[in-house]
Amino acid sequence: MENSKPKLDLETNLGHRLDQRKMKGLELPRYELSKAGIQGDLAYRLIHDHLMLDGNAMLNLATFVGTWMEPEALNLMRECVDKNMIDKDEYPQTAELENRCIRMLARLWHAPDPDQAIGTSTTGSSEACMLGGMVLRWHWRQRRKKQGLDDTQPNLVMGTNTQICWDKFCAYFDVEPRMVPISKNHLQMTAEGAIAACDENTIGVVGVLGSTFDGSYEPIKAIQEGLDLVQQEKGLDIPIHVDGASGAFVAPFNSPSLLWDFQLPRVKSINTSGHKYGGVVPGVGWVLWREQADLPEELRFNVNYLGGQMPTIGMNFSRPGAQIVGQYFNFIHLGHEGYCQRMASLESTASYIADSIEAMGTMKLLSHPKGQLPVFAVAVSETVTKWTVFQMSDRLRMRGWQVPAYTMPANCEDLAVLRFVIRAGFTRDMADLLLQDIRNAIEWFEKLNLPMPDPNPEHKPFHH
Ligand SMILES: *Cc1c(COP(=O)(O)O)cnc(C)c1O
Repeated sequence: MENSKPKLDLETNLGHRLDQRKMKGLELPRYELSKAGIQGDLAYRLIHDHLMLDGNAMLNLATFVGTWMEPEALNLMRECVDKNMIDKDEYPQTAELENRCIRMLARLWHAPDPDQAIGTSTTGSSEACMLGGMVLRWHWRQRRKKQGLDDTQPNLVMGTNTQICWDKFCAYFDVEPRMVPISKNHLQMTAEGAIAACDENTIGVVGVLGSTFDGSYEPIKAIQEGLDLVQQEKGLDIPIHVDGASGAFVAPFNSPSLLWDFQLPRVKSINTSGHKYGGVVPGVGWVLWREQADLPEELRFNVNYLGGQMPTIGMNFSRPGAQIVGQYFNFIHLGHEGYCQRMASLESTASYIADSIEAMGTMKLLSHPKGQLPVFAVAVSETVTKWTVFQMSDRLRMRGWQVPAYTMPANCEDLAVLRFVIRAGFTRDMADLLLQDIRNAIEWFEKLNLPMPDPNPEHKPFHH
């Protein structure tokens, strides 16, 4: 029998306005290309409707990634939607904006000579971390080769709280991950823990500025000092890469006196996500090296087949240019003061929510937004017997809020938390709505009188 699904008559639909009746029963091709296509407005309508059940980005407190930009920025980005970043000859003006962004970041992060800054935009922090890690590995191998030592067992020291991209780096680049465990009363890697894990095969230490799990900063300065001692005692010169995916856009504005960047001589490279607190929609990231010498010539490539001689660094070749334009827009639109104001307001909104939740008396804060990312994690107090963070997360989801619940990494797996990430666009009004929904949920759980749920359902740790 012939396929009985209604078929779209392309002839009669062509050039006409979308006819609602014709859409009835029409299905989106799912796993196989359909034989004939459908016209653009119909395809738009079908996909638009399909996406209706996606979450509402404004109510999403799970992700770190930007969901709001000025309309002017979005217009500009729309104008650049067809520009390929790699065609630096065709789009020299876009390439120039990338270069300006790199210099601005180099100044913000106190590179010794910002005008000689070396770095690149990327698709996000993950790619930026791969590049940072790869360069650490390259330098380590060169040192080992020169000394005639074994160069087959590289390791990278980091906390168990690092983001998943570092597990990927180690797997993709054949490097042993040396995970420093965290503990319940200390949810970051300590300098002592990092130092104890280092040996002659350590290509570097990753310090996280803004842990994905609770927003707290790792002690980069103390790690630098610890590594200085290691050098004095054992002659090992171990560099630091700072994963500032979130914090490298927060700390310079909120905590200008905190020492974490190129002011510390061991910090050889820093990455950040332009699409997190840089305020751009996904996806753009950045990685910068301290000085020209920190990025070996061997890892820079020149392409000549697009016209000129252009150096390129990065995993990708073609990539959208619009996000770089968006980043530059934010830099000139906000300026230093604008970023300071934005970060201060995020910190104050996040602190307000954290303090109000603590005041409810049923949850305890594991971290506080003051002096860290506008992010915090809470656990349920021991006195609570009728609900868990997982149920709270589900209950809030019914109201549209996305507040993830997850267990902490190794050593702390029995610690289950709710995490709140506050981003630009989240207002005081929304904070009050959220707080009221949390109060209502608590009241609802208390009234229900259900038997105590399993406190440790199989929820995997959450990475973003
Ligand atoms: C988000 C994040 C990453 C990955 O960044 P993407 O831009 O999403 O690729 C890496 N490290 C940390 C600490 C992060 O928070």
